[in-house]
Amino acid sequence: MLAYTYVDNGRFELRDKPVPSVLGPRDAVVKVTLASICTSDLHILRGAIPRAVKGITVGHEMVGVVERVGSAVTHVVPGDRVCVNVETFCGECWFCRRGYVNNCTDRHGGWSLGCRIDGGQAEYVRVPFADTGLTKIPDGVSDERALFVGDVLATGYWAVKISEQEEGDCVLIIGGGPVGVCAAACARLKKPSRLIICEKNAGRRKFAARMFPEAEVVCPEDMPRVISSMPRGGADRVLECGGNRKTFEMAWKYARPNACVVIAALYEGAQSLPLPEMYGKNLTLKFGGVDGCDCAEILRLISEDKIDVSPLITHTFPLSDIARAYELFASGRDGVMKVAIRP
Ligand SMILES: [Zn+2]
Ligand SMILES: [Zn+2]
Repeated sequence: MLAYTYVDNGRFELRDKPVPSVLGPRDAVVKVTLASICTSDLHILRGAIPRAVKGITVGHEMVGVVERVGSAVTHVVPGDRVCVNVETFCGECWFCRRGYVNNCTDRHGGWSLGCRIDGGQAEYVRVPFADTGLTKIPDGVSDERALFVGDVLATGYWAVKISEQEEGDCVLIIGGGPVGVCAAACARLKKPSRLIICEKNAGRRKFAARMFPEAEVVCPEDMPRVISSMPRGGADRVLECGGNRKTFEMAWKYARPNACVVIAALYEGAQSLPLPEMYGKNLTLKFGGVDGCDCAEILRLISEDKIDVSPLITHTFPLSDIARAYELFASGRDGVMKVAIRP
């Protein structure tokens, strides 16, 4: 089968590999029907993720059909349509039992697929702990609508969840990329009084404005004016989905005193907190490295038409042409938000 493979830093190649088989009783093998490229894949390509193992198949955001299951798998059977969770987790350790599945203490726990073990930019993928790693897609939900449930949408959902957003809150989302869009799609469900999306790229602002007509979509230069219109001097919840020094600074600056700031973004470098300047603002900072433990709930919301982030798929490529898909995704050209890969 074809599998997009991490050969070396700066080099991914489409290689021919054997179809994976069930190795343990809790495994399943899934025939991939739609996959996606994530910014984290670009981090691996650039060599910025040291724990990524050379030779593995990349890709950790995909949906498919269960092909085979191990003897201990009880939640899915061959033929089920499923979305695959970015995280591998046992469901039984101290962290898993509390929903902190990203910190599962199993040796394969956390982000393994497409990083430390073979992932899903391929025709088939083996999923360890299939009962926790696979979620059945409800009838009537297309692959396109389910594609992001296991990773980028789970990230947005988790960010909103830990922000403890309440009805009537003023919510500021920094960054209108895929994570910011997913966070907005989840934040709007909690009926915010204002939903503000701040994004510097004009194309992405246009995209967000189309998807969220009720939101105020602004550029960073507008922010002082927007903040001055807030009675409490800042947003009640800030979700930082930008991932750079500037957006990190905006996140705590534009929060009102005693607000909750969630850092959902993945940074490539260290950030600094000017504590003397922040003193007395009494912020709660939370770090949102995704805990993908709510996939069934997210799929339910999708099946009820409450969330639809499928417009994020701006381009689709066949697996045989995946190198071109990467090139486009990395370039940011042609209004690309997310690229779907069809094996
Ligand atoms: Zn990802
Ligand atoms: Zn665990």
